[in-house]
Amino acid sequence: MGARPVRDAVRPGQLPSVDRLLRLEPVAALAAGEGHTLVLDAARSHLEALRAAALAGRLAPATLEPAALGAAIAARVAAASRPRLRALFNLTGTVLHTNFGRAPLPEAAVAAVLTAMRSPVNLEFDLDTGRRGERDRAAARALAELTGAEAATVVNNNAAALVLVLHALAARREVVVSRGELIEIGGSFRLPDIMRAAGARLVEVGTTNRTHLADYQQAIGPRTALLLRVHPSNYVIRGFTAEVATAEVAALARERGVPFAVDLGSGALVDLRRYGLPAEPVVGDVVAAGADLVTFSGDKLLGGPQAGLIVGRRALVARLDRDPLKRALRVGKLTIAALEAVLALYRAPERLPERLTTLALLTRPRAAIWEQATRLAPAVAAVLGCGYLVTPEPLESQIGSGAQPGATLPSAGLAVRRAAGARPAGIEPLNGSLRALERPVIGRVADDALWLDLRCLAADDEAALLAELGRRHA
Ligand SMILES: *Cc1c(COP(=O)(O)O)cnc(C)c1O
Repeated sequence: MGARPVRDAVRPGQLPSVDRLLRLEPVAALAAGEGHTLVLDAARSHLEALRAAALAGRLAPATLEPAALGAAIAARVAAASRPRLRALFNLTGTVLHTNFGRAPLPEAAVAAVLTAMRSPVNLEFDLDTGRRGERDRAAARALAELTGAEAATVVNNNAAALVLVLHALAARREVVVSRGELIEIGGSFRLPDIMRAAGARLVEVGTTNRTHLADYQQAIGPRTALLLRVHPSNYVIRGFTAEVATAEVAALARERGVPFAVDLGSGALVDLRRYGLPAEPVVGDVVAAGADLVTFSGDKLLGGPQAGLIVGRRALVARLDRDPLKRALRVGKLTIAALEAVLALYRAPERLPERLTTLALLTRPRAAIWEQATRLAPAVAAVLGCGYLVTPEPLESQIGSGAQPGATLPSAGLAVRRAAGARPAGIEPLNGSLRALERPVIGRVADDALWLDLRCLAADDEAALLAELGRRHA
């Protein structure tokens, strides 16, 4: 069905009925395999497309051959049955990419999830006593050990963790927050909105750039339920700024008998500087500084599944666990399986860069990525064909997910540019065609080039990438 008029074009009246279509040998065989309902739907939508083409005088007679009809309907059935989520190549340079599902899970977690998917598991069953158990008991114990906290609990994501803390500790009461921390994070996470949804009243203190201990002191009154600190994540204020040290807020909170919670966002379980990465607040340090509760995400720097992790004082965590919202925000068995497996890896921090996928990606040295880029450049140039210039280039990767927005990781990759005089001009058509691949290849377009950061390309995925690029229609 091309754009131009067709000679001997089929008229709408010559189209077969749905019933005749379904009786055609290839279509009947398809229905026997895939089921009548799906094939009927596909046949109907294909007929509609044929009718539109016929009305436009653009339907070639060959389109109505039984084999052609069968193939077209089979393609529609395949498209309708294909899951929406597809593996893709993340060559954006952002390792923890929220749009791509953040942390890729390590094999240990994948294996644990497969088991939990296929088989009944002792999710809430204590194998020692034969009695009912708590689903997040083991993960909570590991989190407490790894952070030095008295207790821990697990919910669906960090936004849920914050909602639970606010609802359980501060419903209809006041929560004191510095104006410099009233942030919006991607995906409509706005602190004032979360407060309202959880039924807590926000009391803002200080100014956007400067907040002092006296501001907190003056804001605490009989209705104060909680002091809250929020890590600004992907937002930095520079220049004339002042904030109060966590330990100072903690001391004030203790003196006035008010609990103190910190939303760390990404939050690392170990000091990333030991792996040569930029410093990011460590959960255990914040606990040691005196925070009563700390919340953070499971799928950011921690490198695990989507989850909201809360560690802190035993009595406060018990109040969270008793809140009815805890039941509504609890995690499923697949999350528990993945989380337990990932936390187990943290028991051997020396091995973490090999075993934890996100850390392996974050710590890849530029020299290794550069070697990969120089090796792959000619191969990529060959599959893209003439019309493109492919060169290895030094690049800067980002951690992503709000961790260290200013910091970059020295990386390398490929710049793909249009050769002089090639038609159509511009790199956007190539970018679009790479997005349309079975396993899409996602880079970044800037300065008339497509930049493919190879930090997240595993060595055993190189052949698959080249094969995929070879299937491109453009
Ligand atoms: C990312 C982030 C959140 C939201 O966490 P999710 O796990 O995505 O729900 C909340 N607070 C801060 C400071 C964050 O960085």
